[in-house]
Amino acid sequence: MAADLHSHSTASDGSARPAEVVRLASEAGLAALALTDHDTQEGIAEAAEAAHAEGIDLIPGTELSLQHEGGGMHLVVLWLVPGNGPLQNRLGELQSGRVGRNSRIVEILNDHGMEMSVEEVERKAGGGTVGRPHIAAVMMERRYVADIRSAFDQWLGQGKPAYVGRPRLNPEEAISLARQSGAVPVLAHPHTLGISRAEDMARLLDRLVDAGLVGLEAIYSSYRRHEREGYAHLARRFGLIPSGGSDFHGSYKPGLDIGSGYGDLHVPDSVADELKDYASIT
Ligand SMILES: [Zn+2]
Ligand SMILES: [Zn+2]
Repeated sequence: MAADLHSHSTASDGSARPAEVVRLASEAGLAALALTDHDTQEGIAEAAEAAHAEGIDLIPGTELSLQHEGGGMHLVVLWLVPGNGPLQNRLGELQSGRVGRNSRIVEILNDHGMEMSVEEVERKAGGGTVGRPHIAAVMMERRYVADIRSAFDQWLGQGKPAYVGRPRLNPEEAISLARQSGAVPVLAHPHTLGISRAEDMARLLDRLVDAGLVGLEAIYSSYRRHEREGYAHLARRFGLIPSGGSDFHGSYKPGLDIGSGYGDLHVPDSVADELKDYASIT
């Protein structure tokens, strides 16, 4: 049997609802599916209910963006049970940090003579998650900018006067909080780290293994066979379990299916079993 240990739903940036992702995984004949939405576990309850009905094993998880110079470092955290716990609580704090971020941006715009309040921006979001697009909409309405695009180009985009970065966990903290929460941290799609020299990769993996890293994603949709083998070999060299997943995003990544990726992905469910030994839930 096969598993898929990396997927996204509408709870973050996927196009399919959590229950739909589970249904697709079940149709694909998978034994286990991990739902790993970015920085949130909001989809887990719905997915778990669907998984129960479909008779498929749902692994609760999330995917975190971590502090890293020069590239994107993502951590897939598996068997993270929603509720209270060291990592779960820290994620809650980061969510409220997003609220703080919006008021900081509004403050900067106020300082530049653009009048608006956080409440106005919240009204624009209509009760949903408030973000920069809503701030841009208010700016446009007040004719401070011509359109949404120039709001980003002139003010809100990275490197612009009202840009406020999203707070991120540092890798050691995230990995160690995951382990303290009984979950299993896996370094996702290592090619996005932007590391080309073997000794730099070795230095980083030494650090992360010391912090408690358990797995490294080696079986990934966009990888060719030699890359999957190379990363699996690298993982074992550092005592890590070669993990795998499709990184399914529904129709936002066309041609990429749950379980089979672009057609040639296969993650044996024995991989999930091996990783689960490090989880403190049954
Ligand atoms: Zn990612
Ligand atoms: Zn992902």
